[in-house]
Amino acid sequence: MDLAFSDEELAFREEVRAFIRDKLPPDIRERARRNWANLPKEDHVTWQRLLYERGWIAANWPVEYGGTGWSPAQKFIFEEECAKASCPRIVPFGLSMVGPVIYTFGNQEQKDRFLPRILKSEDWWCQGYSEPGSGSDLASLRTRAVLDGEDYVVNGLKTWTSGAHKANWMFCLVRTDPDVKQQEGISFLLIDMKSPGVTVRPIISMDESHYLNEVFLDDVRVPQANLIGEEGKGWTYAKFLLGHERTGIAGVGRSKHRIQILKDIARQEKSDGRPLLEQADFARKVAALEFDLTALEFTNLRVMAGDNAGQGPGPESSILKIKGTEIEQAMNELLVEALGYYAAPYERDWLRPDWNEPPVGPDYAPGLMPEHLLRRASSIYGGSNEIQKNIIAKMVLGL
Ligand SMILES: Cc1cc2nc3c(=O)[nH]c(=O)nc-3n(C[C@H](O)[C@H](O)[C@H](O)COP(=O)(O)OP(=O)(O)OC[C@H]3O[C@@H](n4cnc5c(N)ncnc54)[C@H](O)[C@@H]3O)c2cc1C
Repeated sequence: MDLAFSDEELAFREEVRAFIRDKLPPDIRERARRNWANLPKEDHVTWQRLLYERGWIAANWPVEYGGTGWSPAQKFIFEEECAKASCPRIVPFGLSMVGPVIYTFGNQEQKDRFLPRILKSEDWWCQGYSEPGSGSDLASLRTRAVLDGEDYVVNGLKTWTSGAHKANWMFCLVRTDPDVKQQEGISFLLIDMKSPGVTVRPIISMDESHYLNEVFLDDVRVPQANLIGEEGKGWTYAKFLLGHERTGIAGVGRSKHRIQILKDIARQEKSDGRPLLEQADFARKVAALEFDLTALEFTNLRVMAGDNAGQGPGPESSILKIKGTEIEQAMNELLVEALGYYAAPYERDWLRPDWNEPPVGPDYAPGLMPEHLLRRASSIYGGSNEIQKNIIAKMVLGL
């Protein structure tokens, strides 16, 4: 694969840079720099609407549904420039997850109703897959949907539901037939979070943020019109969606940006009077990370090229998910190690937009430990890394 950018691609890079420079509001950029992982919803909406107006919100969608028509190289450039400039991430639940399911498997009415609202960030989605006891073994899920007239009546409990407290829609896996093989009794329903019987309760994670939730579903009536595709085929749609989710989790652009931050910090922080980056043991760890990241970058481009050829991300997305999260976690550990004792004061308040006291140490310090703690979960969500290894063994290596 030729990775030297063409003149057109270099011109595109300039266009992206100029757009970010001119359009990204400085206060949002500053908040994203401090607390990228947990920004207020309004900041995401503002940025996503600016991208929508420019026609750049849906890099991976087909053009006919509002996608950009970008080549893999352009997608790569866009992701890299956004990461470098501390742009808010594009929240994946609508644009990268349920959107592709709706335009691939939904009917015309569902496409007309939901896709424009996803593109304009008018709807905010969450993912109702996991349940207590059904995480890795997702096909064992028990949330039940029973047809009653024109509606399904849904009862069950979803857990670890990221962003459910900010969402107005949930795409949800439900059991419509308990008497067939587990995978064949699952359907894919779109649930309005304002429906009577939906209760969201917070789960506070170890970094002290409220990102996760439990979602209780008690006699929730969901119109049959909100069923995607065929009843009993939800498992197929669910797996298709997970391919998109796992590709997104790899986060190559952001890791490339953070490795530069790591090097900057390691040039400034000293041990025994010498910068960390000049010390063999630390420099070796940074170099190893850079090698892994370069390998991941090429794999990511290959998967993107396959996706562009209309094949969808496929099981290779599991490779991206494993390596991307291993690199992210190793990077976070090195960032915290580089901070030395500045990692000890847990200054989460400093990440709040209205906080105006200076941090104890340098201003790059307070965000790193909360992100390290939050991202311990990246090897679990989107399907744990052990499960991804099983998928690679079966689906990629054919073992
Ligand atoms: C921060 C965070 C955000 C999340 N967001 C969402 C969300 O928005 N929506 C949603 O639906 N879910 C979400 N999840 C849930 C996530 O998908 C599950 O936690 C994950 O699939 C693992 O399931 P589990 O927690 O039930 O663990 P378990 O399935 O009980 O697994 C426990 C351990 O056993 C290992 N294990 C299990 N089975 C096997 C096997 N066959 N072979 C080898 N090892 C195995 C696992 O790898 C893991 O280490 C989120 C989770 C986290 C932590």
